[in-house]
Order: sequence, then C-alpha cells, then structure tokens
Amino acid sequence: MKQLPITRETEQKLFFHNYARLPIAVSHGEGVWLVGDDGTRYLDMLSGIGVNALGYGDKRLVAAIGDQAAKLIHASNLFMMQPQFELAAKLLELSGLSKVFFANSGTEAIEAAIKMARKWAGQSGDQHKKEVLSLSNCFHGRTYGALSLTAKAKYSDGFEPLLPETGMITFNDIADLETKVSAKTAAVFIEVVQGEGGIHRISQPFIDRLKELRQQYNFLIVADEIQAGCGRTGTFFSYSPLNADPDLVCLAKPLGGGLPLSAVIGSEKVADVLSYGNHGTTFGGNPVACAAGIAMINAIDEDKLMENASAIGSYIHEKLQLLAAKHPQILEIRQYGLMIGITVDKEAKYYVEQALQKGVLVNATSVNVIRLLPPLCITREEAQKCINTLDEIFSEERAG
Ligand SMILES: *Cc1c(COP(=O)(O)O)cnc(C)c1O
Repeated sequence: MKQLPITRETEQKLFFHNYARLPIAVSHGEGVWLVGDDGTRYLDMLSGIGVNALGYGDKRLVAAIGDQAAKLIHASNLFMMQPQFELAAKLLELSGLSKVFFANSGTEAIEAAIKMARKWAGQSGDQHKKEVLSLSNCFHGRTYGALSLTAKAKYSDGFEPLLPETGMITFNDIADLETKVSAKTAAVFIEVVQGEGGIHRISQPFIDRLKELRQQYNFLIVADEIQAGCGRTGTFFSYSPLNADPDLVCLAKPLGGGLPLSAVIGSEKVADVLSYGNHGTTFGGNPVACAAGIAMINAIDEDKLMENASAIGSYIHEKLQLLAAKHPQILEIRQYGLMIGITVDKEAKYYVEQALQKGVLVNATSVNVIRLLPPLCITREEAQKCINTLDEIFSEERAG
C-alpha cells in the first residue's frame, strides 16, 4: 500500500474539521522532547495536554504496558482484574475516600459524577433536588452532561438543547454563590485550579463558604481534578492545600500514563449511590491502562515528581516575573506547581506559532493566555530553555 503523505491537505480530506492541528507530524519522544517525522526536536511544555506526566519513553511505563498487554489486553468489567484492584486501592489511599469507578476519558468521569449526583440527590426524597451547578470560566468536557456544565459558549454553540437544571456561579464570587445554591442543588462542580480557563485558582474564602453551604443545603462538592490532579500542582490533588473536602473527585488526563483512563472517586456519603446495572462502560478500567496508571503513580513517588513540580514551578515563576518586568506584553503570571498561565496583551496564538518555530511547544488557552503544562520530570535546564525562548520572542517582537 502506498504511504499517505502526512500533510495538512491529506488531513483536511480525511477528517472532520474539528481540530486545528499544528503543522507538524510527530513520530516519537524522549523525556521532555517530542521528535518530528523529519527529526526536528521540540521541547514539550504541553505534554499532550497535561497527559504525559513522565515525559516520553519512560522505561517503567513501557514495561508495565508491555507486560500487561502480553497477559491480557481486555476482558471487560464482567470480570475482576488485578491491575484495576491495585490502582483503585492506590487512589483510595491517596484520597482517603471510599469507592472508585473507572471510565476512559475525562468527560466520561464527569458524566458518571453528574449521574451519581442526581441519583444521590433523588435518594434524599426531595423530587426538586436535581440542580447541578458549576463555575464561570470552567471546562468539564464535550459530551452533553459535561458540556452543559462548561462555561464558554464557544464549546456549546449550535449543540443546544443542553441538559436541564444546570446553572453557573460566578468564579470566586461569594455573594453569587450564596444566591445560586439552595435546597434544589444536587451538586457543585469545581476545578480548584481552572485549566482551559487560563490557570485560575479558587480562593480559600470561596471554598470555605461552599463547604458551609453544603452543610446547610446538603449537596455534593465534585472536584474536577482531570487537569490539575495527579501531582501537577505539587500535591496529588490540587484541592488538598485548600481543604476542599470533596464528595466526588474526577481524575483523567495523566492517570493512565498516556492510555485512556479516568476515575471517579467517592466519599462514604455516596458509597452506595449506584446499584447493579445503574452505570457502566465496556472499556473503562482497561487492565493495560490500569497497569500504566500504577506505574505512573509509582514513578511519581519514586522520582519525587510532586516535589519537582513545586520546585521547578517556582523556578519558572521567578524567571517569568523577571521577563514580565522586562516585556510589557506580559500582563500577568499565574502558577500552581507546573500549571502555568501567562496572560499577554494579544491573542496567545501568535506566541504559540513563534515558539514552535524556535522548537518549543506551548499552548494558547482562554484566547490571551499562554499555557505551560510540561511533564512533571522537567529539569531546571529544560525549563530555562523555555524561558530563554520566550524572552527571545518577546524581545524580537518589540524590536519589530
Ligand atoms: C481535559 C479536561 C476534561 C475533559 O477530558 P477529556 O478526556 O478530554 O474528555 C474535563 N475537565 C477538565 C478540567 C479538563 O482539563
């Protein structure tokens, strides 16, 4: 068979036009370096949208995947499988929570959490307790339930009608929180650090008030840790330093070490919410993905990657502050471990293209935010290369 040319033209012919792909084809990776088909090496400050926590080609991950694939690739949830049990036990230990449900993607974890919240609220005996709330500027996914919670119109325009009995609370606005939640509220979904929204963290007073209101109205707090979780912010869960005490936690992106895997973890309060046949998935908790997840979590521990996320995150923050003092194009820097947002005075797309030309992969989100989500194993030298490249781009831009 003749090999297809991997070009934009072929791409346009083959696929629906929903992805604005970068004009590069990639073949493999080494550590934080992603390598193109033509041999070009890119410093990857994006890690497959926050997925590749260990970077590329981690031997432990590859071995775990190979060993499990040789034994059993799939059997379905009709059976019990050791890798699922081991990963579930690890997640319960890390969270201190009670029960796990595995799915395949972030949006599916959110769907499961919405279903659990509605069913749990229904069990309270109040037929009107169905409302699921989220925060302005949030992102929870693309399937109908998750999309209905997602803030920005650009994701939902044209796809209406969305799920009924949903609503939005203005981010970090305590007065708005107080007016929106009520006895009708089944759950409030939060990203403690908003990712797609441009790296914004919920304030401590907002979390504290949310917990008080939960006490008053009896609803669930659902933490979407899909992007911020698994160590990226320096703790395994980004809610821990703020003591958010969620009833349900959703994990995905890095959870399967690059394979599709997500989880919903629930507290004792919701431990019995589902009954047999209530919810399920054919692939969810795939044993190869779970084996990769175990290897990923073990590597985070072994290599002290959460400490590294904190240390390198602070280092990058410090260096970015210096750049901000030098370049007026930088308006604000927000950083929580290795979740970093740089607000600039124009569309961040411009900087994504410039950085790409200099061999550094960064990402634009929320229109004018440059987002960095490097692998958790990034070194100081690699981080410095990214800083130098940004410095160069801002300087060249001002020189005209
Ligand atoms: C990426 C993301 C999702 C959706 O995950 P998918 O795997 O793309 O469905 C949901 N919530 C947050 C916070 C995310 O970053």
